[in-house]
Formats: sequence, C-alpha cells, structure tokens
Amino acid sequence: MNKFLGYICSLCKTEYATDEVAYTCPKDGGNLDVVLDYDSIKAKYQPEDILSRNDPSLWRYLPLLPVSEPQGEATPLHSAGGTPVYKLTVPSKKLGLQNLWLKDESKNPTASFKDRASAVVVARAHEIGAEVVVTASTGNAGAALAGMSAAVGQKAVIFAPKSAPQAKVAQLLIFGAKVILVDGTYDDAFDLTVTCAHEFGWYCRNTGYNPFTAEGKKTAAFEIWEWWQETHAKWHEEFGEDLDHAPLTVIVSVGDGNIISGIHKGFKDLFQLGWMPRIPRLIGVQAEGSAAVSNAFHANTEKITPVSARTIADSISVDLPRDGVRAIRAVKETGGTYVNVSDEEILKAIAELGRVGVFAEPAGATAYAGLVKAAADGVVGSEDPILVLNTGSGLKDIHAAMQAVESAPIIEPTLEAVKRLL
Ligand SMILES: [Zn+2]
Repeated sequence: MNKFLGYICSLCKTEYATDEVAYTCPKDGGNLDVVLDYDSIKAKYQPEDILSRNDPSLWRYLPLLPVSEPQGEATPLHSAGGTPVYKLTVPSKKLGLQNLWLKDESKNPTASFKDRASAVVVARAHEIGAEVVVTASTGNAGAALAGMSAAVGQKAVIFAPKSAPQAKVAQLLIFGAKVILVDGTYDDAFDLTVTCAHEFGWYCRNTGYNPFTAEGKKTAAFEIWEWWQETHAKWHEEFGEDLDHAPLTVIVSVGDGNIISGIHKGFKDLFQLGWMPRIPRLIGVQAEGSAAVSNAFHANTEKITPVSARTIADSISVDLPRDGVRAIRAVKETGGTYVNVSDEEILKAIAELGRVGVFAEPAGATAYAGLVKAAADGVVGSEDPILVLNTGSGLKDIHAAMQAVESAPIIEPTLEAVKRLL
C-alpha cells in the first residue's frame, strides 16, 4: 500500500508530490509536513493491528510511516524506539504532583531521542538510493545518523561544531562516519551541510530541513499513545471517571523545535485516524540562553528572531530554530505553553533525576527543570497526569554532569582515613 501521498508546506499550504521536493518549501522555505493517505490506512488497519505486533521498536508503527521496511534485520537501526516509561514517585511528592512519569529516550541504540529520526531517514535514503547521507549536528543527531548508518552499511558524513562534547565526537568516529568539525556554531555547520549536500549530491538529514526527521520523531507520540491507553485504563479501574478532566501533559525540551513538532505530528496522525480522541497538551522547555522559540511564542508571533545561543545544554543550543513555527503551533494548538530555565536549574535537574536512577544530559534534564518551574508556577495542576521526556544520556556530556554534583573525596587507603571522612 502506498500510504505516502506527498508534502504540504506548513506556511503557504502548497502541496507537493513525493518526487517534487525533498526538503523545504521552494516558495518560502517553510517546513514540509509529510501527508499520509489516512483513508486507506484507516480502511486497512485498526489500532489492534499495531498494538498486537511483537516488535517493540518504532518499526511496529510501519503502517503509519512514509517509508517501507528497512533493509537487513536485527540491527541497531531495527531496535530504535521502544523506550521505557518510569513512574517518578519520590519527585512527584516533592513537587506536589500525583501523577508523574518519565520516558527515557537515553535507552535508544546511540543513547538519544535522535535515533528515531535517523532510523527513518536512513530507511528513506535507502529507498531513494542515496549514496551518502549528511547532517549537521550538535552531536546527538550526528551520532544517531552515524550509528543507524553503520548498522546497515550506509555512508554518512557529519558536520559538528568543534565545541561538541568529546563523548559525542567519539561516538561519531567510532561509528565510522566521515566527521568534519567546524570552527563555528551549529548554525554555521547547518548552512555548510546544506551547501555541501547540494554540491555533492548527498542526501541531507538536517533537522528542521528534511521532512522525514519529524516522521521518525513522531513515533515517540505513538508510544506515548500506547502507554497512555494502558495507564489510563488502570486509572479508570482505580478512580472511575474522576481524573478524566485533565488531559495528559507531555513536557519536552526544545532547541530547533523538531522534537516537539514531530511529537505533535504523531498525535495529529492518531487524531486524524480517529485512534486518539484528545491530543495531549504539549509544554516546551527552552534554556534561557537559547529561547528563540519561546520568545516568539510569548510575543504571540510566528516570526522568530534569532538569538546568540549560550547554554550548557549543547543539544538545544540553537541561534535560529529551523522548525520554530511548527514548534510554536505544537504548543499553541494543544493548549500548552513555553517555559524557560537557567543553566543552574538544568544542572539541578540532572542531579534530581540522577537520584531516581536516570542519567540525563543537560538538554534531557531541561524538560524536568521546566516541569519543576511549571509546577511551582501552577502551569500544571497537582492531579494532572504528566509525562516528561529525557532526550539523551548523561554519558554524552560528562563535563556538564560533573558540574551538577560535588566531586568525590580522595583518601589514603586506610580504615582511619575512612573513619575520619565518615
Ligand atoms: Zn510554502
């Protein structure tokens, strides 16, 4: 079944055939939404057809993806997605919240959310016969593309700012990608990547540029949908209809805006299919030093003014968000909002999550820091069911992690020394 119909521009609403464009709208540079044939999907599938699948990875949602089954089997690319959800009991009490969960995206094959996008883009690259896939990255998207590419023998080129954390650069190199560090910002790397893709005929994965990244990211929404159905059913047993008034709130950190817009797309797909009666409320969290999307949202405009980004959360450090308009709409259309947090609050959040066994990188902990603020400001209510996303592993940025904690004491190897210390 050919369920991929084409694209529609998120700004001017021009529709394009599948082979007419590859990236953004030629007229206005707007992000393109992938259009699926919802009628034929609906005619062919019921939610049960997906829910009953054995595959726990994101490929269980293949009927809702604009790509076909990726080549090979049982590779890291085939195991992207399917991340766990934890109940945060102790933090809930501290924050005065009754129903708090965390979805841990650091459990993806290369330890970040970006594997979802890269897995789907690599599948697409194979379909169109792309010899080389290229991306600009602050680290995670590159590591994800390099890892997913390595898994199926796809050639990958990664441009990253030279300031990218060492662990992320190590991942890129270990996965065998051609790694080029740019003496500039992520935004410089982004523009250079687009130029090179054009010059050398490479397939460009850039976030907020390639429409398939959001299609991969939307699979997180599908998983949340599945998880929420089960969790919600348990609630009914326990509390009856009492808690139905509060929609699920999903809290996500935002850099270029593509994760939140991808998740929004996933929920919209499910809504359009009639499989999800109510779209969850989305709250975006930005670092104070990199808050271009949030600034525009609060100024009630879709015109995004670039900033000179400065934050410890490198994965969401972006001057010009490439998917900003859709990121604003994701929040606006779902009754959510944007919250800004300081680097200090992000470091605190890393430590807080660590105490419940979750090791988040700064950008991942940003969502939790936003929750803390949203709870204090009454943006979320004590009974609201809330899901926070951790988008990446703390092992990716040890330098930042060490700033979140006190260093360990060094002692002589004697019992006396231990006693003195204790
Ligand atoms: Zn357009």
